[in-house]
Amino acid sequence: SFAAMNPSMTNLFPFPELNSERLPFLIAGPCSVETPEQLHATVAQLVNKGIQLIRGGVWKPRTRPNGFEGVGTLALPWIKEVKREFPVRFAVEVASASHVEEALKAGIDVLWIGARSTVNPFTVQEIAESLRGIDIPVLIKNPVNPDLGLWLGAFERLESVGLNRLGAIHRGFSNYRDKIHRNSPMWQIPIEFRTIRPEIPMINDPSHISGRRDLVPSIAQKALDLNFDGLMIESHVRPDAAWTDAAQQLTPEVLGELIGKLKTRKIHF
Ligand code: PEP
Ligand code: MN
Repeated sequence: SFAAMNPSMTNLFPFPELNSERLPFLIAGPCSVETPEQLHATVAQLVNKGIQLIRGGVWKPRTRPNGFEGVGTLALPWIKEVKREFPVRFAVEVASASHVEEALKAGIDVLWIGARSTVNPFTVQEIAESLRGIDIPVLIKNPVNPDLGLWLGAFERLESVGLNRLGAIHRGFSNYRDKIHRNSPMWQIPIEFRTIRPEIPMINDPSHISGRRDLVPSIAQKALDLNFDGLMIESHVRPDAAWTDAAQQLTPEVLGELIGKLKTRKIHF
């Protein structure tokens, strides 16, 4: 059973039908939107598990070229369609002003800035300018490198154009020889972030920290033990056949079991 009530979470996701008072707040969905069928099947099963904020990458930042780089704008009508059919909100990654423009036109509910964009002040500034005067929740992943200043600076750039529904996502940090994690968690960085900006909700992304599905539960539980506000977990109907991040995605079924086992220690005074 989960504790309730985090005022900053309800401010971040001001959608009355979303139970953003419940902790941890859960965001789930495929790494990438691949086909209309994959999206539909995944969302249908996640809705059955009570997930109402779906993630799905449309523009994919790939480390090396010539792989699948996301369906792009073609995926936006598919997302509209699942939103017509199911009571869900949808989050996508944006990495440029044109992504923002397309996402807003398509009625995307929540945006996130990926780790490879947070690292670049020009990119963050471009995204910020494109959002001036627009009221939409934006989640900012930590930069790929362990630089707290860059992460804080991205918040400051978005705040300076008037955005105030902002959340942080801890997805771990690039490393050379961490044999366990795809991205080293370096928990002290999100913890220090929270001492500086305690009012900003902190969401953990165990999928990109672990890079492998067997480690997702222990990282998710550790985040809850550290009083994180929410989790973003990658989920796909056929993880092994996923076009990106196959090793780390969970079926909605397995995600449902995990949710049932997570314990929150959050104490509210
Ligand atoms: C993702 O969420 O699929 C992604 C590309 O994440 P990150 O920016 O954390 O690497
Ligand atoms: Mn991914």
